[in-house]
Amino acid sequence: MTKSKSSSGWMQRHLTDQYVQQAQRDGYRSRASYKLLEIQARDRLIKPGMSVIDLGSAPGGWCQVIADIVGIKGRVVAVDLLQMDPVADVEFIQGDFTEDKILERMLALFENSRADLVVSDMAPNISGIKSSDTTKSIYLAELGLDLCERLLEPGGAFLVKVFQGEGFDQFLKDMKTVFIKVSTRKPKASRPKSREMYLLGTGYRG
Ligand code: SAM
Repeated sequence: MTKSKSSSGWMQRHLTDQYVQQAQRDGYRSRASYKLLEIQARDRLIKPGMSVIDLGSAPGGWCQVIADIVGIKGRVVAVDLLQMDPVADVEFIQGDFTEDKILERMLALFENSRADLVVSDMAPNISGIKSSDTTKSIYLAELGLDLCERLLEPGGAFLVKVFQGEGFDQFLKDMKTVFIKVSTRKPKASRPKSREMYLLGTGYRG
């Protein structure tokens, strides 16, 4: 291994440890909390009193951050395939968001209201086959975008994780038709070697 490769491997492990240890100290359930906190520090997406949907929420690191900020006047509805230990003041649906019945449950919870923000940290189980992982990631992102078109308040925002690769450019185009502004974010807690990045759509056209 070349020196630069070995030192970047060291740096990656170092960063991983840093965020894992920090999460333990700060009482967050996952190191993912720091990705959202960094985006929040820059973009001020989440505000007190907001209604937020968190797709792919387990184990609950993002839910903790969101629930803290929206406070008791806000609302957080989360969904994940996996079981998630309760987070105070978060409504949780356990199930596969690709299934119609889970979408229907979400729509029923917002029968007479809309969300101000949708966040999606959903990621497929990584198979290691790049093209297949990317296709699945883009599909999950598309489902999130579809939800925005059903439930988001005009002017609202969507933060979504996507893997770069085939289908990414088309998804970016789709985001641009739905939101006035679309930006990319790669927070420091996102492993540098990972192809994951976040797209942030603001100003939902409605
Ligand atoms: N944001 C979370 C946190 O802060 O703790 C971490 C999310 S983790 C990176 C990705 C999550 O997406 C996993 O918990 C996984 O179960 C979920 N997921 C993947 N596919 C899903 C699907 N089809 N429906 C619901 N959740 C899904």
